[in-house]
Amino acid sequence: MKRTGLFFTYFQGERLKDFPGALDGILDKENVSYYDAVYDRRDGLYYLEPVAEETLLKVHSREMVAAVKLTGDYESAMYSAAGTIQAAREIRQGKIDNAFVFTSFGDHHAGRNFYGGMCYFNGAALAIATLREKGVKRFAIVDTDCHHANGTRDIFLTDDDVLHVCFCCQDYSDEHNNIDVAIPNRTSDEEYLARLRQEFIPRVTAFKPEYIFWEFGYDATQGEYGDKGLSRDSHLGMARLIKEAADRVCRGRLITILCGGSGRAVAAYTIPRIIDTLAELGRYR
Ligand SMILES: [Zn+2]
Ligand SMILES: [Zn+2]
Repeated sequence: MKRTGLFFTYFQGERLKDFPGALDGILDKENVSYYDAVYDRRDGLYYLEPVAEETLLKVHSREMVAAVKLTGDYESAMYSAAGTIQAAREIRQGKIDNAFVFTSFGDHHAGRNFYGGMCYFNGAALAIATLREKGVKRFAIVDTDCHHANGTRDIFLTDDDVLHVCFCCQDYSDEHNNIDVAIPNRTSDEEYLARLRQEFIPRVTAFKPEYIFWEFGYDATQGEYGDKGLSRDSHLGMARLIKEAADRVCRGRLITILCGGSGRAVAAYTIPRIIDTLAELGRYR
């Protein structure tokens, strides 16, 4: 079984209201570690460490960090990125194999000098910046949120050591390993998973990253604000494919980051299933 770290922040909004309660039957597993921004170290809980401003400046401009402070969302944005940064560190130190990061604010619309779309800091980019300082060189980011990852693309546009495969509405690729896979406005689970299998798996296998980051947005699920017709079970299929690739390509080093999606019921249904897959608990078939 894999050792899976769960990195939890919850400050506002509806979607995570059922957590951590929805993780009943998962949190007590020996191979699952739970890191929380709210509670200090006690009874098997680990403290989620805040991120220093100098770390944010490894990716984002001083002006942007200052602007985020003025929004009133700084603390929750900072802790959202903190989960991904700490997940990367715990994996590198061999304490866990993979991770699921709960966020209040996401990642992929945050660029070097801009933010928007409920994204302030780019946790994946910050984690990559900190891993690089420890000698890690190659990374892959797969993005199954409904929308284009303009922030992540801004940060890694000319970076040859980051493979970025974004499943969105555009169709773009360049020589710096930036790929967009156009998903039509109406699709099906089978079609989407086939695209993921065709467009991501061969590329990540050839690229040989040392870590894979999965920007997991569920906003293309039926009834969500980016509804493309996917069922809530589609994300379990994606998790299985991406985890299998990580196990084969980079010793299982996979960090799953909660990105878009607003529904509380979809979150409570989908996220435990993804974590079950990461930790190989085998409760769902
Ligand atoms: Zn989105
Ligand atoms: Zn895209």
